[in-house]
Amino acid sequence: MNKMLIMKTFIFDYDDTLAPNTHYYGYAQIAFLEYILDRLGYKAPNLQSIMNLEIEIDKNRVKKLGFSRKRFPGSLMETYKVICKSKNYSFTNQELTEVYNIGKQAFDISPCLIDGAEEVLNFLLEKEDELILYTKGDKVIQQHKIDINHIQYWFKEIHIVNEKNKNDLEIIVGKRDKDRTFKVGNSIRSDVNPALEVGLKVIYIPCETWAYEDEHSEIDKSNPRIHIFQDIRDIIINYDEL
Ligand SMILES: [Mg+2]
Repeated sequence: MNKMLIMKTFIFDYDDTLAPNTHYYGYAQIAFLEYILDRLGYKAPNLQSIMNLEIEIDKNRVKKLGFSRKRFPGSLMETYKVICKSKNYSFTNQELTEVYNIGKQAFDISPCLIDGAEEVLNFLLEKEDELILYTKGDKVIQQHKIDINHIQYWFKEIHIVNEKNKNDLEIIVGKRDKDRTFKVGNSIRSDVNPALEVGLKVIYIPCETWAYEDEHSEIDKSNPRIHIFQDIRDIIINYDEL
């Protein structure tokens, strides 16, 4: 049989599917909380309300700035300003720069893949399946992450986009057989829903994520086109049934 007829295509998400991402933002958020406690002392709001405000401001700024690398550090800066004003604390430009730089720590990442990711990618390459990377975010940051983890070794195509949507995905899929094309990702909003709209099969691997991705409708667990795996290695275990 012609190999083209039997091979599968896997369109992988990157952040929190192949490599940790939300995790690194956590360290920047902890440093931000500490910074506020140090500067405002006992006048600092409780930590939960600082985080709630930061998350709200960051989510709203997605509408204006999308997934630009300036958004998250700028969101910390905006949060800092709002808190300082509410506490009658006069901040300096130097402090704003320091807060912005704390936000940039979210991009200080080391080479690291999700447990089992390398094993799965090697397995799929051995099967001679086709691997496509489809990731959204700031082009410079995403390219850096892809480079440090040598992702190009496994992938035939790499697409970095500002926002994942049905139209882009449809263009990437092209004439491929949608019954043998799988979207693999951790986000219902950005991975599962656009893939279902295009008519692909979906491998949903839930992972801790951030507020923006957490805004979604419930997944239809009875949909036979959706496979829900708790571990990326389940792709190997269930490969023949996919
Ligand atoms: Mg993701």
